[in-house]
Parts: sequence; C-alpha cells; structure tokens
Amino acid sequence: MDLASVDTKEMEQLILQLEEPKFRGKQLYEWIHKKCASDFDDMSNVPKKLKEKLINNGYTFQVPKILEYQESKIDGTRKYLFELYDHQVVESVLMKYKHGNSVCISSQVGCKMGCRFCASTLDGWLRNLLPGEMLEQIYQIQKHTGERVSNVVVMGTGEPMDNYDNLIKFIRLLTDENGLHISQRNITVSTCGIVPKMMDLAEEKLQITLALSLHASSQKEREELMPIAKTYEIHQVLDACRHYFDVTGRRVSFEYSLVAGVNDHEEDAQRLADLIGHMNCHVNLIPVNPIKERNFKQPNRENILKFQNKLENNGINVTIRREMGRDIDGACGQLRKKYMER
Ligand code: SAH
Repeated sequence: MDLASVDTKEMEQLILQLEEPKFRGKQLYEWIHKKCASDFDDMSNVPKKLKEKLINNGYTFQVPKILEYQESKIDGTRKYLFELYDHQVVESVLMKYKHGNSVCISSQVGCKMGCRFCASTLDGWLRNLLPGEMLEQIYQIQKHTGERVSNVVVMGTGEPMDNYDNLIKFIRLLTDENGLHISQRNITVSTCGIVPKMMDLAEEKLQITLALSLHASSQKEREELMPIAKTYEIHQVLDACRHYFDVTGRRVSFEYSLVAGVNDHEEDAQRLADLIGHMNCHVNLIPVNPIKERNFKQPNRENILKFQNKLENNGINVTIRREMGRDIDGACGQLRKKYMER
C-alpha cells in the first residue's frame, strides 16, 4: 500500500494497528504531504523501528524520481519527466504566472481516449496513477523549485474521469489542511466528456473548475476529432456541463483547440456561439500544438482573432491560451513520447 495515497484517518488507523502511538500518524502524514519528503530517510524524527515495521507490513513510500527536466528560456515554464516505482514514465509541467505557480499533472500512464491531435494517446494506455502519484508530481516540483505551488490543473496525460476514484481522493488530499491545503477553487479538472462521471463529480459538490474539451461545434465534427464523442454525444456532454453548473454554481470552462481548415471557420464560431451562448461559461481557445504524427496546423493569427471576435460579439467570455514553453516539448505527452522513443 502506497503511504502517499493514505488520508489522515487511514494513517491514524494503520499506525494504531501497528501498535504505535497515534501522533506518529500525524508526523508521517506531515512528512509526506507538508514537507514533501523524498524517502523514509528524510523523516528524521520517525524511529527507524517504525519505518521497518511499515515496510515489513507492506507499506511503501517511493516518490516519483525526476528523470529529466527542461526549462523554457522564454517564460521559465518547466517540463518534468518522472519515473514511477514500476519504471513507468509520466510528465508534468510547471507554469509561472503573476498570480502564482501552476502545475499541470498527469492522471494516467498513457491514455485510451484517442483524440486525434494529442500525443499522449498515440501509444495507448498503460495504467492509472494512484492518488499519491498525482500528488507527488506537485510535491516533488515544489521541492525542486523551492517555490510554493498554488494552482493545479489536471490536464496532463490521461483522462481523469477514467481514473475517477483516485482523482477524488487526490483532490481531497490536495485540499487537506494537514497537507498542501490548496483551495478547491484553484484546482481545474479537464475531461474529454465522460458523461456519467461528470454527473458523479457534480454530486461531490466540490468547488473545483470543470473544463470540458469541446473542440467542435457539431456532433459530426467532434466525432472526427475525438472518438469518445461517439459514446457521449455533444448534447449529452453539454447537458452534463449545465448540470455541473446548476449543482455547484461553478462556471464551466470549454477548451477548443483550433485546427486550421478543420474547426476554425466562421460558421464554426457561429455554431459554437449558438450552442453555448446561453450558458454561464468561459471559452479557452488553444491554437493546436502540432505533433509530427499528424498533419494538424495552427490557424494564422488573423483567423484566431476572428474566431475570438465572433464569440465575443455573441457575449461569450473568451481567452486565447498563451503558449507557454514554446521552446521546450510543450504539447501534451510530447516529452514522454520522445523519451520512450529514445
Ligand atoms: N483527457 C483530458 C485532459 C488532457 S489534455 C481532456 O481530454 O480534457 C488537456 C487539453 O489539451 C485537452 O483539451 C486536450 O484536448 C488538449 N490537447 C491535447 N493535445 C493537444 C494539442 N496537440 N494541441 C492543442 N490542444 C491539445
């Protein structure tokens, strides 16, 4: 059992089962979640005997190791490649904004969703990440930079709603006052639109931001870019977003990756406005990040601005995602893919 995936209550219970004093549970929890320990050796005030007992009873504490990292000379964005206990590799990104440091984490090793423009899914899915493995990406980056992380986006490799239980536990641990204590409002979870799980998420009544990868304004166009659209149709997905807003009061964010000649026409912008114009939402336009395996290109600046204007003229809140780390392997899953190929 992974000790970084255990909550305060479970930690207390397991410590009592090992016939150790209760306060050791709190101590261990703080070493892992507050002081971002890298291994048992870091935990200087925890007796060696207890560490041995934990190991002998099947508890492990093995944080992901930084294999390599790249830093952008343009904006300081850093990409990290982590090696997990079973030698699988995941990537995470640190972005520095005026309002604080944001980390983008992976939720799975690989991905089975098959979105056409995405590098994370090209080699398929290998396994889910444990709550502790999602947390440790943040902890180890915080430790490596010596700077506090204030925002977390689950937008790296993987589909978080396809690893739902671990995702929810991860959020609970990340917002726990005995750990990093990040505000729910500073957490964003992005999904390609797994409707039943979006409905479940609404019932958790969290104050996190839900981001939906929409990428198209019609069912037909969406199916061409995202295979999951065949299972959950665009109208069902939008209903689930409305339900999320109704239950939580949180404005939904739509991601729309602009691909030249595919979904960037004026009619697309108008159809999109008609589709979501009445909703309390925000649209994030992402000029597609080209990957060598596909022939997708970014629209030129003029077309991107035209698309934005069209939406704004329909009263929709729009931002164009600032491209960060353009000089490093920026797009989802590119760093991991290159490493695996090497
Ligand atoms: N599986 C989740 C989160 C992963 S990716 C989801 O689908 O939302 C985060 C966002 O980046 C998604 O909107 C995804 O569609 C988008 N994305 C992936 N690869 C991209 C690329 N090459 N260019 C632009 N956006 C991309």
